[in-house]
Amino acid sequence: MTNSKYREFSLHTRNEDIKNIGDKTFDVAIVGGGITGSGIANILSENSISAVLIEKNDFASGTSSGSSKLIHGGLRYLSGGHIVLVRELIKERNYLLKNLDIVKKIKFDVLTGKSQWNRHEIKFGLVLYSLLERKFKMPEFYSNNYRENSGVDGYFTYEDAMTDDSTMVIYNIASAYNNGTLCFNYLELSHFKEYNGYSVLTCFDKINKKDVIIKAKLIINATGPWANRVNKALGLPENAMMRLSKGVHIIFNRDYFNIKNALVFRSGIDKRQLFLIPRDHVIILGTTDTFVDSPDDFSVNNDDVEYLINSAKNLFPFVDKNDVIASYSGIRPLMGKGDNPGKISRDFKIVDYGNVITVFGGKLTDYRSAARKVLKIIKNKLKIEVKSRNMPYINYSRPDKDQVEFIISHECPVYVNDLLRRRLPVLIYDPENAENFKNENIDKLSGLIGD
Ligand SMILES: Cc1cc2nc3c(=O)[nH]c(=O)nc-3n(C[C@H](O)[C@H](O)[C@H](O)COP(=O)(O)OP(=O)(O)OC[C@H]3O[C@@H](n4cnc5c(N)ncnc54)[C@H](O)[C@@H]3O)c2cc1C
Repeated sequence: MTNSKYREFSLHTRNEDIKNIGDKTFDVAIVGGGITGSGIANILSENSISAVLIEKNDFASGTSSGSSKLIHGGLRYLSGGHIVLVRELIKERNYLLKNLDIVKKIKFDVLTGKSQWNRHEIKFGLVLYSLLERKFKMPEFYSNNYRENSGVDGYFTYEDAMTDDSTMVIYNIASAYNNGTLCFNYLELSHFKEYNGYSVLTCFDKINKKDVIIKAKLIINATGPWANRVNKALGLPENAMMRLSKGVHIIFNRDYFNIKNALVFRSGIDKRQLFLIPRDHVIILGTTDTFVDSPDDFSVNNDDVEYLINSAKNLFPFVDKNDVIASYSGIRPLMGKGDNPGKISRDFKIVDYGNVITVFGGKLTDYRSAARKVLKIIKNKLKIEVKSRNMPYINYSRPDKDQVEFIISHECPVYVNDLLRRRLPVLIYDPENAENFKNENIDKLSGLIGD
């Protein structure tokens, strides 16, 4: 039991909630506990629609903890002519900046010069970006030759936003749970059948090692890169437009690069756009963009690390792979054709298959737009009235003190790693201290299941 204003949401309540499901038929079952599924759970909970969310591993254990963690309008997408997408992303970014304390402003220096972007094109792009923000500002150019012979003549500075992707998922999940929506981690959809006009989902409870039956009128497939695989299990066709692309990030100590703002630069190998992003105790360098066949291909291999290191060498000749202190990767669910993953649109697509609605693709930044669009489809199918203006919002935040205890009883981590990787997440922003952190909190962590 806890004294906070929020409901207890822990391993204990998870197991109790599973026991109490009984014969209930939900209006909606959401499969997938990443940003897409958690945003949908949240907006349904705000509309008091009876729903349940199931996630096969921990919440945010898929792509939604493997992103660059930016809430951005996508300056780069302007060169592909995606003006409508950029306008929508900027609108969402501004809403999140204003309303969510885990979204903060971040300044980027975007480099220009022979090895980088054309100064006039960047200037034009930034003018357009600021017009789409409705805050016109003439971009200022700062000359700086960075390093002799590096082909850089200067940079422009602009502002976007950043967050922690997994914390954003957890906040949506906790918010939905507090509004009455059941959310289960470590519960995997394995089989499905239709019965008397509703769907019967057989799910495997990975903690208690037993099947759990969930009945629902509608299913939302929000499984990101696993969307085709889950649709197949639901007896639906695979969508040939869906492609998977792996993105790897590598992490260095904060003082390894002497930069104040985040840096947008072009790879010295193939001129792709890369970022260096200072965060807490570290600097994150990313990312790769390579097609993969399987959504489970999370591996960070030597080629990925070498590519990132060699891409940065033109500007930072001292970069060495032995100085990498951690790494992570995520799989982008993309919708489109072509041989170059970087050129495929980052927009999402919702496909209505009758009683299964699938969300393909999308970004962290516009998860609220996806949730509102799904809600509209549900409204028509269930023939109910709904509210969506300014939704979903987040009705949850952490206290400043005693966070570890609070998270254990309000955010349902099951394993120690759930806390260290996706709730705090020390393993990303202070990996060298993760062991100390564990030792210092050993008593509090004893409520969780090992690693
Ligand atoms: C390298 C990289 C960088 C990115 N950077 C940014 C960025 O800076 N800003 C931005 O806005 N976007 C960014 N994105 C995009 C964004 O991260 C993703 O589009 C988004 O996280 C996808 O979320 P999702 O919920 O759809 O998928 P996921 O987060 O993958 O969630 C799907 C979930 O479904 C679960 N699941 C699968 N099968 C089952 C089953 N059978 N039963 C139950 N659960 C199941 C999985 O375990 C998973 O947790 C980036 C993506 C990548 C890969």
